[in-house]
Amino acid sequence: MSCDVFVDRLKDAIGQDQVITDPDIMNSYRTDRTSTVEGSMPRVVTTPTTATQVESLVKLANEFKVPVIPQGALSGLAGGADPISGSIVINVAKMNRILDIDPVNLLATVEPGVINKSLKDTVAKEGFFYPPDPGSYTFCSIGGNIATNAGGLCCVKYGVTADYVSQLEIISPTGGLMVLGRKTKKSSAGYRLAQLFVGSEGTLGIVTKATMRLRHAPAPVAGTVVASFSTLDAMGLSLKEIASKLSPSLLEVMDKVTVMAINSWKNLGIDEEAEAVIVAQSDVKGAEGSEELRLIESICAAAGSTEIYRTEDPEEADALLEARRLALTALERLGPAILDDVGVPVSRIGDMISEIARISEMHEIKVGTFGHGGDGNLHPTLILPSRSPDVLKLADRCFADIVSAALSMGGTISGEHGVGLIKREYMKDQYGPLEVDWMRRIKEALDPNGLFNPNKVLFDEQYS
Ligand SMILES: Cc1cc2nc3c(=O)[nH]c(=O)nc-3n(C[C@H](O)[C@H](O)[C@H](O)COP(=O)(O)OP(=O)(O)OC[C@H]3O[C@@H](n4cnc5c(N)ncnc54)[C@H](O)[C@@H]3O)c2cc1C
Repeated sequence: MSCDVFVDRLKDAIGQDQVITDPDIMNSYRTDRTSTVEGSMPRVVTTPTTATQVESLVKLANEFKVPVIPQGALSGLAGGADPISGSIVINVAKMNRILDIDPVNLLATVEPGVINKSLKDTVAKEGFFYPPDPGSYTFCSIGGNIATNAGGLCCVKYGVTADYVSQLEIISPTGGLMVLGRKTKKSSAGYRLAQLFVGSEGTLGIVTKATMRLRHAPAPVAGTVVASFSTLDAMGLSLKEIASKLSPSLLEVMDKVTVMAINSWKNLGIDEEAEAVIVAQSDVKGAEGSEELRLIESICAAAGSTEIYRTEDPEEADALLEARRLALTALERLGPAILDDVGVPVSRIGDMISEIARISEMHEIKVGTFGHGGDGNLHPTLILPSRSPDVLKLADRCFADIVSAALSMGGTISGEHGVGLIKREYMKDQYGPLEVDWMRRIKEALDPNGLFNPNKVLFDEQYS
């Protein structure tokens, strides 16, 4: 018989089927996709299906002073959704209905557990486009995308999740249901609280409903250009030229290590002699799309590309993109992998990939780098010979050097995955003490009991 009054009250509030205390089942809620950290066993996992249930759970957590861990699809790569010991997990994956598509105001209202691809596919049937497309779009949720400000391949032209948030219904850390933001195209009334919530990684409450902006569907992709470069300088130069003159709908970059990993798995025949390869697409309509691709080709040729390949075949383009999306998995096949996520100004991408190669050589750790060449967000991935304590220590130093190289180029410690558990120590390097203090004060003001996702994003003395 249960002797946990808190758990009994949760069962009374939302029904016992949605309250899990079996350790074997709770174990599957213990960690996201981050390879370097794992969560602790929570006290209880809950899987609510309505905002009212989430509200009741948060109120009870406040009454019993139990830390709350919001979870979506657990695809995160920063440990943000990992539980701490004794916490209540509120996993909203079952809240997965698309509630409304508003064709006039170009909005879609969804529950937080809706999978990104499901929203994309549903609105596409009505002629609309929901752009944010993380590599995980087939299995990550809109709530998680909002909480991490997820990016993806089409950010170069269409922006990140923050650019598509119109209105959020949230349960605040003290248990109040609130509506942040406005469904109008414009609003200058007061602080932009919905935007404050974006990227807050579950530390400021739980999204229970989200109204996301849509666009009219763009023209089909006109074609895909793949260009190889024998030097990183030449690759960096072409990215700068493309960024200053054109608006491709996709502009990705992969280094030699990544290309070799993809080829050896998928046998796509991408040029392995090259130091780096870029993949670009245009979705401009008609002849102008072809012209944009031709200009990309001529910029790459002028910058010294050693091989340029262009295809208009959508199936071939899909295969290339799929390969790019699978870059992480391809690298993971080579050995234990640690994925980093840093951002630099587009003008510094060539320098950053060169610096990563230098750091990799210095620490004698193989690093494969791929990422979003159009927006400067790179994913250097460390491939370790083993997980021995010495190797892990070395990997930590390599990881830290990559982060500080990005900062030294005016970049950011995270372009899209968030801070979670793995980047907290670098927050003070990116921000000054005043900015960190503002963040702490905002958190304390909105979450006076300090219950929401404690010890994530910023260190929390109580849990350190
Ligand atoms: C192979 C692979 C490729 C990836 N590619 C990309 C990429 O290209 N771009 C990118 O940005 N990310 C990428 N990711 C990372 C991940 O998919 C994103 O961070 C995603 O946004 C997380 O969504 P989720 O639903 O899985 O959230 P979770 O992992 O469950 O949670 C992530 C964070 O959001 C919080 N959270 C979740 N739901 C809510 C909610 N309803 N309310 C409040 N807080 C909430 C959690 O507390 C946690 O801090 C990739 C991951 C994998 C495994």
